[in-house]
Amino acid sequence: MPAARTADAPRFMAKYALESVPRYTSYPPATGFVDTVGLADWTAWMDAQPAAPNLSIYVHIPFCRSMCWYCGCHTTIPNRHDRVARYLEALDTDILRRAALMPGDARVRHVHFGGGSPDMLKPDEFRRIMTRLRTCFDLAPDAEIAVELDPRGVSEPLCHAMAEAGVNRASLGVQDLSEEVQLLIHRIQPRGTIETAVGRLHAAGITAINMDMMYGLPGQTGERIVATAQAIADMRADRVSVFGYAHVPWFKKHQRAIPETRLPGAAERFEQMIMAARTLGELGYEAIGFDHFARPDDPLATAARQGSLRRNFQGYTTDPSDLMLGLGASAISECAQGYVQTEADPVRYAGAVMEGRDMLVRGVSRSHEARATGARLATLLCRFSLPLNGQDRLDPLDDMIADGLVRIEENRLLVTPAGKPYVRNVAARLDPAFRLAADRHSLAV
Ligand code: SF4
Repeated sequence: MPAARTADAPRFMAKYALESVPRYTSYPPATGFVDTVGLADWTAWMDAQPAAPNLSIYVHIPFCRSMCWYCGCHTTIPNRHDRVARYLEALDTDILRRAALMPGDARVRHVHFGGGSPDMLKPDEFRRIMTRLRTCFDLAPDAEIAVELDPRGVSEPLCHAMAEAGVNRASLGVQDLSEEVQLLIHRIQPRGTIETAVGRLHAAGITAINMDMMYGLPGQTGERIVATAQAIADMRADRVSVFGYAHVPWFKKHQRAIPETRLPGAAERFEQMIMAARTLGELGYEAIGFDHFARPDDPLATAARQGSLRRNFQGYTTDPSDLMLGLGASAISECAQGYVQTEADPVRYAGAVMEGRDMLVRGVSRSHEARATGARLATLLCRFSLPLNGQDRLDPLDDMIADGLVRIEENRLLVTPAGKPYVRNVAARLDPAFRLAADRHSLAV
């Protein structure tokens, strides 16, 4: 990412950073899902899987202690733990049913708990889910088992339960360490809270640590971004994701609590992204794709160097699976033939599961052409380079070529260092199905 020429930043921003483009964590993007694709399609697709596929499992825990006002996730704040327990009962049933549809010889390479905040689970609840997954699926001994955590909920007993259950990577939401920004986003977590969480994870044996930070939040400044990146490096995070805040208060109503007058403008936002990237680079992190950073000895950095980096719903990944099973409310499952998504509302999801109704409520099937396009766009986003196949329409890229953001060389498209922050814009121009739809995707930067 970001080796952009900041002198040109204002010009490019007006043209590209404010374009609304997909994140391309799936192809077609989730905005193309329709409600006519569901369980029958998924069942047929599973019957047609090749022998012994690599499988990735995603488990969604849609609960948090309190609402962060910038949040863009599918989550709720339960007033009592009973609601979590009822959801987990449904999740358990869902795991049993969905496992029965999967190829019996699938090998699980990757398990990811996301949310919400999976630290909302009690230690025994976490253990029970992992036991169920292990009884229903063949987990490879070296499978990565990763959990997203809110540092405020990382207790010693939960760390021990996760470690006993095989968790070997944790991802902590840091966002910004300044007290003022934390007040403005309703997420108070002093640096000491995060250090304590890291210490507890390490003590339990979970030593691979990812951290997320953000730019574009209310009250953020370049100085605060640099301080946060520095603190993350001091805490020895192996991987860092740097996300831009997407302000969509018409879609996420709690974002109305964010004071819009305190949001950085487009130029500041761009500068913040560049400063985060520059600081992390100076602190020894390698840039991975357009929004991830990793220490040079981390498997993500190795995968990027070796050309085996991939992209899925978690962003950039080392996960080799082509088959993904999403469990829980709003979770998306993926196979070569298409995607299906479960009901997003946790109460409706649990009701549907317990009453034996179909809770795969939308999805999309993929044609051979869509699969090929998705693979090509993923290559571009992972490598900033793409062999041209003679059928690519290059005229939509004329403006980016003229601006020095893209080069064509010996039948290969290359994103220049200045163009790296805009690689999603390049992808959108190569995507035959893409139509600029300002309200459906996130800002490019
Ligand atoms: S902890 Fe994460 S998922 Fe929960 S409200 Fe905050 S940002 Fe959203």
